[in-house]
Amino acid sequence: MQGAQGIALLPPELQNQIAAGEVVERPASVLKELVENALDAGATQIRIHIRDGGQSFIQVSDNGSGIAPEQLELALTRHATSKLASVEDLQNIHSFGFRGEALPSIASVSRFRLTSSIKNGEGHILEVIHGRMVAKTATALPQGTDIEVRDLFANVPARLKFLKQPTTESRKCTEIVTRMALAHLDVDLEFLQGERQVFHFFKDQTLEQRLAVIWPGTIVQGLREFALHDGSYKVRGLAGDPATAQGRADRIFVYVNSRPVQDKIILSAVREAYRGRILGKEYPQAIIFLDLPADEIDVNVHPAKTEIRFQDERAIFRLVRGVIVRTLEQDRQPAQRSFQEQEGQAVSVSTSQPSPAPWSELVSVAEKPHDYQHADKFSSTKKAQLLFTDVPNVVSAQGEKSAPPQVSLASSPSPRPSQTSWSGAYLGQFDSTYLLLTENNELVLLDQHAAHERVLFDILKNQSTRGDRQPLLVPLEISLHPSQSEVLQSLWNELRVLGFTLELSSPTCLSIQAIPPLLKPGAAKEFIEDITLGKARSMDDLWALMACRGAIKAGDKLTHDEALALVESWNELPHKDYCPHGRPVAIRWGVRDLEKLFKRRG
Ligand code: ADP
Ligand code: MG
Repeated sequence: MQGAQGIALLPPELQNQIAAGEVVERPASVLKELVENALDAGATQIRIHIRDGGQSFIQVSDNGSGIAPEQLELALTRHATSKLASVEDLQNIHSFGFRGEALPSIASVSRFRLTSSIKNGEGHILEVIHGRMVAKTATALPQGTDIEVRDLFANVPARLKFLKQPTTESRKCTEIVTRMALAHLDVDLEFLQGERQVFHFFKDQTLEQRLAVIWPGTIVQGLREFALHDGSYKVRGLAGDPATAQGRADRIFVYVNSRPVQDKIILSAVREAYRGRILGKEYPQAIIFLDLPADEIDVNVHPAKTEIRFQDERAIFRLVRGVIVRTLEQDRQPAQRSFQEQEGQAVSVSTSQPSPAPWSELVSVAEKPHDYQHADKFSSTKKAQLLFTDVPNVVSAQGEKSAPPQVSLASSPSPRPSQTSWSGAYLGQFDSTYLLLTENNELVLLDQHAAHERVLFDILKNQSTRGDRQPLLVPLEISLHPSQSEVLQSLWNELRVLGFTLELSSPTCLSIQAIPPLLKPGAAKEFIEDITLGKARSMDDLWALMACRGAIKAGDKLTHDEALALVESWNELPHKDYCPHGRPVAIRWGVRDLEKLFKRRG
């Protein structure tokens, strides 16, 4: 049936809005297009900022080539691109973009502002509302481009309706940015959500350094490197230790010619390589960079460009499976305990970093600063900073079995070699609550709960990127008032980083599926309940609360070794005399103070 007006070309805004349906599905896809454009423009510094999961605000600023003032309108015109000129070029694509669709599509479904400059100080701003240009003004801007996208999909209610909770959209954005960051180590990349810095990857970090920011140390340390040059094909990357296999395929990142892709062939090659080494329902971690001649792949399969076709799929499959199989075969060192003689004493060591021990294993806790030394090596510059990560980190119940063995010197028959420089002496415990020590000619009374809280707080703060979790075989259920679930959701990402896997099966029913190894299930439940009562607002609050919940209590009897281990770890802390809440941890008396107390002197 034909409309009354007959056939007519759609107005450009409508054409763009229809195209937007394919290119921009959600905030994360906008982010992907904008960051790709920045990379195509040769940027070495990219700053990304989103609010409300990207729906209300997305900003990407770069120091790339910029766009000439007279070309700004063209950049927003459909099928206008600087990256492709002929059909032959389409066979040989080296840039991320080439379709000239992203900017006009995004600008047609948002309030859009493009600021760009090809020469320091001389910039222009183009403002567009729902595809209609409303203003063009001059401004001062260093060379580069800054794009702001506000109120995405406000004019496309059907699309808006399909957006998930801001926290979910934020997570998808983090995933996209992370994937890109791993393939561009030469780019300084900062990502902010609201007021928080999610991460700041510095220029020229290694892949391991960047991974250490987003993956637990146990996984990063188990990664094996591989590289193979086979004719015109190059493959390199990292393959995870089979012992750290997990229940989801969310730590397998594949890049073809630096472009992050989802590809079934490569995924099945990876799984095939691990066959027999991990359970059928487990997935390993792997990062694979494939470099092939551009004319052997077709990236023009879908507007989002996350799918590709290979000319020779079988060769790709064999290449990837082969290189990983050989890497795993070479690996003669399973993550097992071995015993070494060290200074005449048997000390158990592990090839992997042990997971945090439960609080009751005080001696293990005392080892913590040492345990993390290795993980710290990756971020030894302390540059990579992560306040939270969205990368899902769920392990299956089987994950428990494959977790690396814990090194608990508490259970070791040999005495623990002293590893600290503490020069004091531990005298004993009073009232199962205070530890009595001497140190530097002072008598010290230590509040054991506050001291342990302080130790745990520092550990949590230093390992904030790890997000280790302990899956619960039987999830804990908590029923919530809707307002409580809102409070909880506002800290959802932070809780994930702390090691919780939570699911709201309905707005009033929370299921806790995994908990931080530091907490026992009962304490974990209390911790979550505290949060629903509004006791924490920030990551610092959460660390403090978790340290409090995980710490030994007043009234807990400690063995001599346990007490000593606590004292030694506490002694190494920078602000050791106060607990995270600001209460005193230790009270000290010097000889003079005692003389005064005993009225031996005036
Ligand atoms: P494509 O990337 O497929 O060419 P886009 O719609 O994403 O299409 O961008 C259109 C054009 O705008 C690009 O070809 C490029 O010339 C220019 N452009 C977009 N973003 C940037 C940027 N950040 N820096 C420099 N030029 C840009
Ligand atoms: Mg583009």
